Amino acid sequence: MSKGYSIETKCIQSGWHPKNGEVRVLPIYQSTTYKYETSDEMGKLFDLEQEGYFYTRLQNPTNDMVAQKICELEGGVAAMLTSSGQAANYYAVFNICEAGDHVVLSSTVYGGTFNLLTVTMKKMGIQCTIVDPDSDEETLNKAFQDNTKCVVAESIANPALVVLDFEKFVKIAHAHEVPLIVDNTFATPINCRPFEYGVDIVTHSTTKYMDGHAMCVGGAIVDSGNFDWKKYGEKFHGLTTPDESYHGVIYTEKFGKKAYITKATVQLMRDLGSIPSPMNSFLLNIGLETLHLRVPRHCENALKVAEWLEQNEKVAWVNYPGLKGNKYYELAQKYMPNGTCGVISFGLKGGRQVSVSFMDHLKLAAIVTHVADARTCVLHPASHTHRQMNDEQLMEAGVQPDLIRFSVGIENADDIIADIEQALMYI
Ligand code: PLP
Repeated sequence: MSKGYSIETKCIQSGWHPKNGEVRVLPIYQSTTYKYETSDEMGKLFDLEQEGYFYTRLQNPTNDMVAQKICELEGGVAAMLTSSGQAANYYAVFNICEAGDHVVLSSTVYGGTFNLLTVTMKKMGIQCTIVDPDSDEETLNKAFQDNTKCVVAESIANPALVVLDFEKFVKIAHAHEVPLIVDNTFATPINCRPFEYGVDIVTHSTTKYMDGHAMCVGGAIVDSGNFDWKKYGEKFHGLTTPDESYHGVIYTEKFGKKAYITKATVQLMRDLGSIPSPMNSFLLNIGLETLHLRVPRHCENALKVAEWLEQNEKVAWVNYPGLKGNKYYELAQKYMPNGTCGVISFGLKGGRQVSVSFMDHLKLAAIVTHVADARTCVLHPASHTHRQMNDEQLMEAGVQPDLIRFSVGIENADDIIADIEQALMYI
């Protein structure tokens, strides 16, 4: 689709382009397999000599059209869908890392990503150095080693709501000749397109705002096409030297700017198989069609709720990067001037038990393990996602024991505030 279209138009029109007489709505290719006239044709697909579909574990047209839409929203050159955000982050890193390699990881990334890298991928022989994203350049520089292959961070961290200083991170990653991978789940391409600031790879948990209705777990990886793998060929040898599992194909030679996503698809998806179901991609596409309408409303509502909370005497603190005076307000204005996200966090005077009791009295906002849903939802990380940790460990992870993660939905903001107000009466 024309690059000239605005992001609103891309949300609706990108991906599926029916030809004369074809179905108007994105078709669901609910099939595991694809038929060919000759064995030779199928063989060429297996050798990557010809483009085409042969088995849905590798590629499916419905999935690909939705990936194409997300690719255009982010302004990348190639994209792929995965069955979850976890799979997206795993593939994004594992596509360029192997046993003996090293990753520089922002300390405030989502807990699932943190565990993936520091526990599970550690067992695969990949080591991490954890950095505070607010550290100065000198400190960040010290985290790099000769075997460092990438830097991983989030544009807006879940749940710490730290806004990434893209310029600082891009500069440092590139100075060390490695790509910067950014999880853009909370900001979405509506509010922030990391490639515009030099980020190399973007990942998403599409489960969140992109789906927006808590229907399907899913993920996406988008490549900017800008990182020069060949220039550092030795370091990224998986992309620049022959892949024996495809009769010696060299991804950078054969696929140019699409090398990274092609390798992730034909190698990692082939071997690990975290493909989304075409039905889920169809539902994700419906979510994407209203992303540009929902995200601004989430942000508008979140700002109203955050401002109201700030004025309430029972509230101890409020964290929302859209609030003037917030530590990340300036960075948010610089990188996402139209809004940040719909998630806020706050604590109540009286601490942890008071926070829990308040949540139990909410009527509209539901207690769920989820964020970024059209419906307002709430979670107490210390009792839920981080419940194995004691107070000290919680603080180290950047999660205050009284922290309430409040994901503001797109209902009427006054109704959300009224719900909070009535629940506060009980504490
Ligand atoms: N990245 C971020 C920022 C998240 O918030 C989440 C989940 O909450 C994930 C990745 C993991 O995504 P999923 O739950 O779709 O596997």
